[in-house]
Amino acid sequence: MTQSETQDERSKWNYESFEEVVEELEDKDYDCIGLQGPDGIKPKVIEYADKLREKGFETVIVGASTFGACGIADEKVERMGADALIHIGHTRFLHPEKADMKDYDVYYLPYREDREIMTVLEEHYNEIDEDETLGLVGVTQYMDRAEEAREFLESKGYDVVEGTTGLRTSEAGQVLGCDAGAAHNISHKVDAFVFLGSGHFHPSQVSEAGKKVYVVDPYQEHIWIEPANSLDDEMRAEHARVIKHKDKKKWGIVTSSKKGQNYMRAVEIAKEKLEKYDKEVYIFVEDRIFESDYKGYGIDIYVNCACPRMTKDWRDMAFVSPRALQVLDELDMED
Ligand code: SF4
Repeated sequence: MTQSETQDERSKWNYESFEEVVEELEDKDYDCIGLQGPDGIKPKVIEYADKLREKGFETVIVGASTFGACGIADEKVERMGADALIHIGHTRFLHPEKADMKDYDVYYLPYREDREIMTVLEEHYNEIDEDETLGLVGVTQYMDRAEEAREFLESKGYDVVEGTTGLRTSEAGQVLGCDAGAAHNISHKVDAFVFLGSGHFHPSQVSEAGKKVYVVDPYQEHIWIEPANSLDDEMRAEHARVIKHKDKKKWGIVTSSKKGQNYMRAVEIAKEKLEKYDKEVYIFVEDRIFESDYKGYGIDIYVNCACPRMTKDWRDMAFVSPRALQVLDELDMED
C-alpha cells in the first residue's frame, strides 16, 4: 500500500457498489462489520447497517462523522469486535509520507452524487475558451462521469488531458482538499482545468497548479471560473502570522493520531527548523484538532502537521503550515 503502486493497484481497493462489498464479506465469512461515513450520508450508513443485519452480520457504527479516508477508524471498530470496516463516502487514501495505512480490512465505498453534472457541461461548455487544452479533474463524487465528460469535450473540439493520481489519491483525476497532485502532474501540458464538482475548497487547490479552473458546478448549474493561484492570499496571511510571532520563544507543533493525518516527517522537519532559531518546541497530538484544546498552554503560535486544510480554521491563535516557516529563513537572511 504505497505510492509506488500503479494506478490500477491503488484503485482496486475502491468498490462501486455495496452489493460487491457484501459478497466479499460473505466469502470471508466475517461476523461483525464496522461502518463509517461523513456527514450528509448518515441515513445511508443506517440503511447499510440494516442490510448487513438482514444478511446475518453484527454491526458497529463509528459515531463521529469523517472528513476523509485519512481518518479510517478500523482500529476503533476492531476494538469492538469487528472483522472489517466499510468506509463509506471516500476512496482509499495513501499516506503522503509513505507510512503504511495498514488498511487491509477496510472496504472503500466512495459516494457518487447523482446530480446532473453532464447536463451542466453540455449546456454551458461554450463558456470554456476555444483552442484550450484542458486538464480534467474533479472530486470523487463525480469522477465516475470523467470518461463521459472527456468524450463530450473532445467531440466539441477540445484537447483533453486526463488527471493522474496524486500523492494521496487512488482514483485518476481525483482531487482532495489536501492533494491536487492530479492537476499539478499535468499542468505543464494544459492551458486550463475543467473541474467536476462544486464549492471553492477543491478548485482553489487545483488553481495552485498555476492555471485557471472551469468549475462544472451541479449545484449552481453553470460553469464558473476559479482564477489561477487563488490560495496565494491564504499563504500571505500565514507568512504574516509567522512574522508577527517570530520573536516568541515557545512554539507548538500539532499533528493528528488519525492514520492519514499523522505526519511525523513534517513534525521532525518543522521541529528542526524552529530549533535552529532557538525556539522551545512542544509537540501535541490529538485525533480531531480543535483550537480550544490548545488554549491555556501559554503558546501563541502552532504549526499544523495534520490535515493541511485546517490551518485556516483557527480564529484566535496563530496556526500556520510547515511551508510558512520558510519566512524565518528569509527574515534571517535579511538580518
Ligand atoms: S483535506 Fe484533510 S480531511 Fe480531507 S482528505 Fe486531506 S487530510 Fe483528510
